[in-house]
Amino acid sequence: MTVSDSVKIREVGPRDGFQNEPETIPTARKIELIDALARTGLPRLEVTSFVRPDVIPQLADAAEVLAGVDIPERVAASVLIPNERGLDAALELRARVGRDRGGRPAFDEINVFLSASETHNRKNVNRSIAESLAGLERVLAQARDAGLRCEGVIATSFGCPYEGRVPAGRVLELARSLRDAGAQEVAFGDTTGMANPLQVRDFFAQARAALGQQTELTAHFHNTRGQGLANVLAALDAGVRSFESSFGELGGCPVPAGATGNIATEDLVSMLHEMGIETGIDLPALLACSRRVQELLGRPLGSHTLVAGPIDWR
Ligand code: ZN
Repeated sequence: MTVSDSVKIREVGPRDGFQNEPETIPTARKIELIDALARTGLPRLEVTSFVRPDVIPQLADAAEVLAGVDIPERVAASVLIPNERGLDAALELRARVGRDRGGRPAFDEINVFLSASETHNRKNVNRSIAESLAGLERVLAQARDAGLRCEGVIATSFGCPYEGRVPAGRVLELARSLRDAGAQEVAFGDTTGMANPLQVRDFFAQARAALGQQTELTAHFHNTRGQGLANVLAALDAGVRSFESSFGELGGCPVPAGATGNIATEDLVSMLHEMGIETGIDLPALLACSRRVQELLGRPLGSHTLVAGPIDWR
């Protein structure tokens, strides 16, 4: 690793974070937060998802949010697509917002997801992995036809709360299927914080060998057991240069109960900047966003840098 390295961060708080908060954040407040995040220098921002509103009521306002936000063109906006129906709704909205904005589309990227373990996939989307994959292959084909960049996300890549160990070979087989179906980027999620740094370093070395140089590899760690940043360092060592995180350490997961969310974006940015790795992100501006969402939610969030502030070397 050299100081000339730079890392790309995708902020996933407005989707992965907001959907796992017990409270539903009012649409106007979401728009305000997303617009502020989009001005911190973040290159990538996951804005919302097109899941069924009865399944995830916290994100039922996806259309209003996408029509209402003002994201600078240099920021790649993405939305999560659960299935073909979700993609149809997203494409329809994209066309409508694009017309209203003189051709500027509401988002540039989609991400699709499945789990690497059967039990987690069934509990999450009520389908087998094979059924999920078949649906996602159709979604990816249609999204690529529409000119969208595509990311495939594999949840429970490093362990499953129901099944325990998940063989790396099985995860990488799914990753190859997603790549072959059109995903330019594959993200590996440690959905319930079971990964350890040695496992991560070994896994990403295998992933690079299995997927080649063309596919972007992204690490998506949760801080469930406090090992999120240690896993980031291990992934960096293995050559990963793309990460996903949530401002404020928003989010969580129903299993284990009360578990914390993604690693905090500001903790990730602080560590990378101290290591001499560029992210392009203005840390104080990002911290202002986290402070604001903490105020809105009315309880302390998990982020460390939000409590301690950025390091001052005077
Ligand atoms: Zn996550």
